[in-house]
Amino acid sequence: MAINIADYIRNVPDFPVAGVQFKDITSLLLSPAAFSDTIDRMVAHAGASKPDCLAAIDSRGFLFAAPMAVRMQLPLLLIRKAGKLPGETLEFDYSLEYGNSTLEIHAGDITPGHRVLIIDDLLATGGSLNAAVSLIEKAGGITASIGVVIELIGLGGRDALSGYHLFSLVSFE
Ligand code: 5GP
Repeated sequence: MAINIADYIRNVPDFPVAGVQFKDITSLLLSPAAFSDTIDRMVAHAGASKPDCLAAIDSRGFLFAAPMAVRMQLPLLLIRKAGKLPGETLEFDYSLEYGNSTLEIHAGDITPGHRVLIIDDLLATGGSLNAAVSLIEKAGGITASIGVVIELIGLGGRDALSGYHLFSLVSFE
């Protein structure tokens, strides 16, 4: 029987603050069948964009991008929060709902002109993915495609990334 990935994503009301309906992917990871099916579907969506490598956003993006990179036999590079990468980095500052954040990549990880598939677990406002796109492009890469497992509708994420090919497996209001 076909797996409905949405059934494996737990809704947690009022996390991390009152009023937020948090989509929890830890429940998806607990099911090897659903997790494996998620990776299969992500890989199926991703192939057409012909990426040269995958870039994963810290930290839940790592969980999906790593098995995808193994299946696709492509290099995996990490986009991390500030201060985590040991080598020389390129950085990009961006605004969050409250305050600012910084994403970094190792300066030499991207070959200029290479096509990069950017992966995260979830798209909300698009702020994190926009920062990731800016970082990839600052490093000379081309955004081949953007893939997320979950897309939250109505927060403007897709509009914030208009002009880029974006795929998601499940959507929630
Ligand atoms: P955005 O930058 O698009 O506003 O938010 C997306 C980022 O915040 C992603 O990196 C994602 O991990 C995290 N995030 C925001 N809301 C949720 C949520 O409800 N569930 C999960 N799993 N992550 C979230």
